[in-house]
Amino acid sequence: HERTLQLCRYPVRDNDPLQAWDAADEYLINHVQEQDLNLDPTRPILILNDSFGALSCWFAEKGKVTTVTDSFVAKQGILNNLAANQLPDINIIDPLAELPKQPQLVLMKLPKNNRLLVWQLQQLCQLLPDDCTVVAADKAKQIHTSTLKLFEKHLGETKTSLAVKKARLVFCQANPNLAQPLPEPQQWAVPEHDMTIANHANVFSSDSLDIGARLLLEHIPSHNRYKGIVDLGCGNGVIGIKAARLNPEAKVTCVDESYMAVASCKLNAEQNLDNAEQVNAVVNNCLDGFEPESNDLVLCNPPFHQQNAITSHIAWQMFCDAKRVLRAKGQLIIIGNRHLGYDEKLKRLFGNVKLIAQNNKFVVYQSNK
Ligand code: SAM
Repeated sequence: HERTLQLCRYPVRDNDPLQAWDAADEYLINHVQEQDLNLDPTRPILILNDSFGALSCWFAEKGKVTTVTDSFVAKQGILNNLAANQLPDINIIDPLAELPKQPQLVLMKLPKNNRLLVWQLQQLCQLLPDDCTVVAADKAKQIHTSTLKLFEKHLGETKTSLAVKKARLVFCQANPNLAQPLPEPQQWAVPEHDMTIANHANVFSSDSLDIGARLLLEHIPSHNRYKGIVDLGCGNGVIGIKAARLNPEAKVTCVDESYMAVASCKLNAEQNLDNAEQVNAVVNNCLDGFEPESNDLVLCNPPFHQQNAITSHIAWQMFCDAKRVLRAKGQLIIIGNRHLGYDEKLKRLFGNVKLIAQNNKFVVYQSNK
């Protein structure tokens, strides 16, 4: 198209082996270009689940773009890439926010999580005017018959394209007769800890308590010297809330890069603590901007992928950030799959690591600063 974009992932890493866009982004862009649509500069173009800004950057000058992402990290990547390519600002919102009215075009990368897909299809179904086209894209192997059934059930008539470079497009026309109220957060009880946990659509392990989290819950310490505790990668906040109960004098900060996780954590603090203000839930990339030496305990059940890429760099950043924000003698306690070898990373970083619990799948390690 005689146009190139410079795109980086976020955080930017030297010699990053991972690319900031994929064949599905290219297919979607090529398709829209070939349609030669007569776009109205006054009506919104909606972009859902853009990875690091390939779509937002491409379309930023073509209309009033609103990008919806649940990821703070993706949002930072999109903002950086817009600036690097000297493109105008766009509107970036999270999936719990209200969508702009009267969109003319919806471009969607399929989210990994089907509950988020259903949430977004239902949001669109309530909103889309007759003349609005929805084009979704993903790797062909991720588009199952069951995925297309979700489109048919929650949005309208659905067709697919041929595969190009192993990516495929999904075309859907909204049928307002299918519109339904948006689903409530999924709730389940954790009776052994006397908790009821609510989960918005895109929260990690939203259908039940994660089996790693279950083991970590048994090993959260209680100590009257703890003033500040961090639950890093908090998801629904189950770990941070248990830590708050065990340490009523401590201030607990729950951090996640997912807006839906942080919103769930806030709901759960209200639902499960006498004093919900003991917990402060914030959206962030790991512990960016946190004061050094400001906390006594960091609890962490780290992620092992970023979007679709399996990677250990986020866990490593989390461990480095934890060390920075811990006071002298502070503790980092983490849980992981035993094959991930987190003990070596912790030993390298802190000079000490202790195995404090294990089962056939998971290990809980502690390092002291
Ligand atoms: N603590 C929860 C639990 O035990 O059920 C969730 C743990 S889950 C394995 C990892 C969490 O880390 C996810 O909720 C994910 O959104 C979050 N996460 C991923 N990358 C992150 C980042 N860069 N900064 C903060 N949180 C991140």
